[in-house]
Amino acid sequence: MNNKYKILIIEDDDNIQGFLKTLLEAQDYQTITAASGREGRMMVTSWLPDLVLLDLGLPDQDGQELLRAIRECSAVPVIVVSARDREEEKVVALDGGANDYITKPFGAEELLARVRAALRSALHRLCQSDSVFRAGDLSICYDIRRVYIGTEEFSLTQTEYNIVALLSQNTGKVMPYDAIIHGIWGANEIGSTKKLQVNMANIRRKMGIKPGENRYILTEMGGGYRLTV
Ligand code: CA
Repeated sequence: MNNKYKILIIEDDDNIQGFLKTLLEAQDYQTITAASGREGRMMVTSWLPDLVLLDLGLPDQDGQELLRAIRECSAVPVIVVSARDREEEKVVALDGGANDYITKPFGAEELLARVRAALRSALHRLCQSDSVFRAGDLSICYDIRRVYIGTEEFSLTQTEYNIVALLSQNTGKVMPYDAIIHGIWGANEIGSTKKLQVNMANIRRKMGIKPGENRYILTEMGGGYRLTV
């Protein structure tokens, strides 16, 4: 599993498509390109991108029309990237569900900043519900079973996620090894702390916690873990 943001580029101009792909991949985003409306729409539903960059002048379909079709099936953030600079065109796109509109030619840094902003606000919306745990810059969205530090997501295994979620429901309290093991694997596994320690080492590594460093998850003397804020 990888936790890179997935960006779908719907653009029929080879040069711009290549430029966007190179620019975004240099920032560690994962990209996929579509050169027609039909292909783009298919990838929205099959590839499930985190963000779509949408050109309006496509060979088989107008981008405005594609935008409305995307909105019928997906809430994915869409940034229109178009040479059309008329106000009316922007209004139609924004009213039609675009999150942002950039006119060509555009500056690379501005485009990247708008991509970050769109991803941030999507994360914010996603985490607006009541089923969110927050402690400092650590967020856990229980509905979608994802963990973030700031806006960066950590891809945890099911078991790792369950451990973090369990600790978050007991924030500030020390949870003894056996209580965690009972909660995650059941009573039969009590006493086998090795499995828990291995999972915890992976969680800490993924969260960027260095050995011996006391951040987010503390190891307590006597055998337990505590999620701190
Ligand atoms: Ca075009």
